[in-house]
Amino acid sequence: MLVERLEEFFSREEEARERNYFYVSEVAKCPRQIYYSVKGFPRPPLDGQSARRMAVGDDVHRRIVGALFSMGLAVAAEVPLPPNPLFHGRADAIISLGGENFVVEIKSVHPYQFDQAVARPRRDHYLQLQLYLHYLDVPRGIILMENKANQALREFLVERDEETVKRVLSQFQDLHRLIFREGRLPPLPDKSDWEYDQCRYCPFTEFCVRDQVKPHPADPGKGVPSLASEGEVDGKEGLALASDSRIGEGGKGTPTPGEKGSDTGDLPLFDL
Ligand code: SF4
Repeated sequence: MLVERLEEFFSREEEARERNYFYVSEVAKCPRQIYYSVKGFPRPPLDGQSARRMAVGDDVHRRIVGALFSMGLAVAAEVPLPPNPLFHGRADAIISLGGENFVVEIKSVHPYQFDQAVARPRRDHYLQLQLYLHYLDVPRGIILMENKANQALREFLVERDEETVKRVLSQFQDLHRLIFREGRLPPLPDKSDWEYDQCRYCPFTEFCVRDQVKPHPADPGKGVPSLASEGEVDGKEGLALASDSRIGEGGKGTPTPGEKGSDTGDLPLFDL
């Protein structure tokens, strides 16, 4: 009666829009998924429950940022990256503590992920913060996690890691060239460093499966040659693209986002 009407109210169509840049939040995403996204391939509609889950994440950000301002710590919120050819994005907040500025990245996470990320943050959260530190030229930042189930908080102090930033920028320069200059579809990725099985949550599975069976020379409005079986960029550092992975295998068989959470062993972290 009411549930069905609320589900309908919250569900919505996902916007599909072409762009020529990446989002910071895509830093650990499957390069193929990024391709479909930047090329404006259609996504399935967002169901009501997923939309409400995302709204909860937005509420957490608002609540924490509001508290940081009330405490007199926040210097700025929703800070956009300076214009650059690769990444768009907004840092959640910049705070001043003891005379030093920190970029704060706020993450609302599933209780399982919260329990997994005890010694170190998730790799994707870490890499996102590294990009904000680089583009905003701030030496240190904080990843602040809130457990969705009980609102427990955990924080990681992270120092800018120039080597990591250099490697990530190089990877995305390669991906930018591949997608936007050469108009090519990245081959299936090497999933060995995935923190969770991205294929299980991918909105573009249908296109990805189709492009493995048959390259898509006549995609609706696309006409982009596929490298799915060519492996042209295999061996490139960072993206570690491989042509023998299969959809659904996932990174080391991990079934849920953040389950692995253990490949950040060499991250420079500091106790607060
Ligand atoms: S189905 Fe998997 S391999 Fe294909 S685009 Fe999606 S995440 Fe990438």
